[in-house]
Amino acid sequence: MRKAGRHFLQIPGPSAVPDRILSAISQQTIDHRGPAFAKVGLRALEGLKTIFKTDEHVFIFPASGTGAWEAALVNTLSPGDHVLMYETGHFATLWKKLAEKLGLKAEFIEGDWRGGADPERIEARLAEDKGHEIKAVCVVHNETSTGSVSPIAEVRKAIDRANHPALFMVDTISGLASLEYKHDEWGVDVTVSGSQKGLMLPPGLSFNAASAKALAANKTAKLQRSYWDWADMLGPNKTGYFPYTPATNMLYGLNEAIDMLHEEGLENVFERHARHGAATRAAVRTWGLEVLCATQGQESGVLTAVKMPEGESADAFRATTLEHFDISLGNGLSKVADKVFRIGHLGDFNDLMLVGTLAGVEMGLKKAGVPHEAGGVQAAMKRLA
Ligand SMILES: *Cc1c(COP(=O)(O)O)cnc(C)c1O
Repeated sequence: MRKAGRHFLQIPGPSAVPDRILSAISQQTIDHRGPAFAKVGLRALEGLKTIFKTDEHVFIFPASGTGAWEAALVNTLSPGDHVLMYETGHFATLWKKLAEKLGLKAEFIEGDWRGGADPERIEARLAEDKGHEIKAVCVVHNETSTGSVSPIAEVRKAIDRANHPALFMVDTISGLASLEYKHDEWGVDVTVSGSQKGLMLPPGLSFNAASAKALAANKTAKLQRSYWDWADMLGPNKTGYFPYTPATNMLYGLNEAIDMLHEEGLENVFERHARHGAATRAAVRTWGLEVLCATQGQESGVLTAVKMPEGESADAFRATTLEHFDISLGNGLSKVADKVFRIGHLGDFNDLMLVGTLAGVEMGLKKAGVPHEAGGVQAAMKRLA
């Protein structure tokens, strides 16, 4: 049966794609080796630097975020290298598994999935590593499975305090263009990101911003790589081209997205996400439910993961909201499967869309018979006013 009106895609990525980007993408594909393409390519490569806040190179891959995770590791490390990763949640766990499959020795600092990475624990572990066996520290900036944000600038300081030479790699696949991010100022060596979250694009592009130190490591790194090799990209990128067929239409969309972010102003974009996060948490508290992130000040403006009351199924609740209110909410992943649902409030999103989203959740809680207090939407409206 046809459902009238727009579907609410409130998962924490992909986020709904704005019409301006959809129409940019729908332009005719052009010759990616012809003269007209150079402008498109250069605009994207230069424009991305303003979003990552870097003067260094940003590599663009026609791949989902997972591809850029792999690219970050294979371009900088050698078989058997020891990498220190932090268990912020499901995505950190996936990145670790990927590292292990590549033949790296990945060590986890265990976490409880209720906050971001703890710089002090990273510092303590690095201080023990007198022989500098650890070659990279990998941290997820915005952990999309839990809605917690890691203090990236503080992790950098912790690495420096330990006086440790490891490369610092950050996954901000779901943080970029929603939360403040400063690749250069924060001293990150490789930043990994993707298209389908804060950048408001469909899935299909991902990125590596690389420091001079990371580019130097690329020259000696021995992990096998071909498709992901930065070295093959650098030459053609100088003039706006790529070593293989780029995702031309996605680059049209990327250029439009970068323009839109600057038209609004990045600071305003960050502020909007923070407000929407705060309003959502006000709603959750009023419902008498618990936010999964339990670390004050680390709650995400991108999404809010909500714990279901004991004995209630998050997936049954999500199925009810989809059936009756045509809204997709994010599911709980691995450890928290069926125990939490996630409300995405990222990308091209405004106050009324948030109020509609929260109304969908509140009506869904009632419809599914989940014990809660009414009035969450009112509390959010009050917070937004
Ligand atoms: C979405 C996401 C990924 C995975 O990206 P894919 O595009 O699904 O490959 C990795 N890390 C984080 C933090 C994410 O939010």
